[in-house]
Amino acid sequence: MALTEKHIYEALATVKDPELHRDLVALRMVKGVDTDGDDVTVKIELTTPACPLKETIERDVEAAIRSKAETVGAVVGSVGVSFTANVRSAGDRGRGADNPLPDVKHVVAVGAGKGGVGKSTVAVNLAVGLARHGASVGLLDGDIYGPSVKTMLGLDNIPTPKPRGNILMPFEIHGIKAMTIGKLVPTDKALIWRGPMAHNAFKQLATQTDWGQLDYLIVDLPPGTGDVPLTLTQLLPLTGAVVVCTPQKVALEDALRAVKMFQQLGVSVLGMVENMSCFTGDDGKTYDIFGRGGATEMAQELDVPMLGEIAIHMKLRVNCDAGDPLANFAGDGTLAEELDRLCKNVAGQISIRALSGEHTQPTLSVT
Ligand code: ADP
Repeated sequence: MALTEKHIYEALATVKDPELHRDLVALRMVKGVDTDGDDVTVKIELTTPACPLKETIERDVEAAIRSKAETVGAVVGSVGVSFTANVRSAGDRGRGADNPLPDVKHVVAVGAGKGGVGKSTVAVNLAVGLARHGASVGLLDGDIYGPSVKTMLGLDNIPTPKPRGNILMPFEIHGIKAMTIGKLVPTDKALIWRGPMAHNAFKQLATQTDWGQLDYLIVDLPPGTGDVPLTLTQLLPLTGAVVVCTPQKVALEDALRAVKMFQQLGVSVLGMVENMSCFTGDDGKTYDIFGRGGATEMAQELDVPMLGEIAIHMKLRVNCDAGDPLANFAGDGTLAEELDRLCKNVAGQISIRALSGEHTQPTLSVT
């Protein structure tokens, strides 16, 4: 006897998504079951194309179906899983009239306690890395005092797309949409903006850009705890924030302030990234130039997820300067692995927030 569809669904109801800790049927991730003789194919819809635990789900589905077959005395041939992905937003919350970007499923801020720790590097690679998995991604350079996205995406010699009326058209490059003030205003001009001017500039970039439909809009914030993060939380429903830091004590103290700032603004912290965590020389020896593991300890103390460590890679700096982020993902070296793991962990944390209906409300009261 072959397994019936009912048996297969019963088996799938015992498989828990390893991150969401609920079963695949309850999570509405099972989109169909095909049987061909004794062979079974299960269609699973992931909550992100950059699913960090695809292999685990595949393995658990096969184990559950084989175990069910044994229990009911059925014969089962091959067991396959075919994946599709549908990034879910957090229900209707955050999609009301007061959301200026209703077609953007998730807005994710990338912040840091201080400059120079690799915040823009993380934002750019996160955007490009998620897009490589098939997600539609936008990158907003909100670092209006020191926009680096222009260089990191290689936009210097690319003409700015013509606006339509007062709507800005984003750059379309490396598989993402991008907008940066660096291509609109001379950098020294933006440097003197404070309070309302910074607020207005950021607001226009965020809401007057034709982003279209996006799964993820990654926002590279200015370093520290200034006006722009406040504007962002008032303006858009954020799914969460990623905090980037380097491992030395003085940098961690600043990162702590950044985490606290997001928490005070009611923004869910998706996790911390430790950048420049070590350096491996040509001799194969690893040097912990700024120390190592400090961010992991701090993440544990603060009870926020650790999203990944990125070592110091000369290649990363070279590709950033050359405006070629896709080159970071080429080949199967450590850099590509570290960045891909980071993207998957961020996507996983976003899925958890989406399925629990968590979205930071766009209104807040500041005392
Ligand atoms: P921030 O946005 O925090 O000011 P950036 O992302 O602009 O920092 O990074 C500062 C500089 O450090 C850039 O030149 C970038 O290429 C380089 N950089 C960042 N992270 C790394 C890394 N892991 N390895 C090598 N260079 C890095």
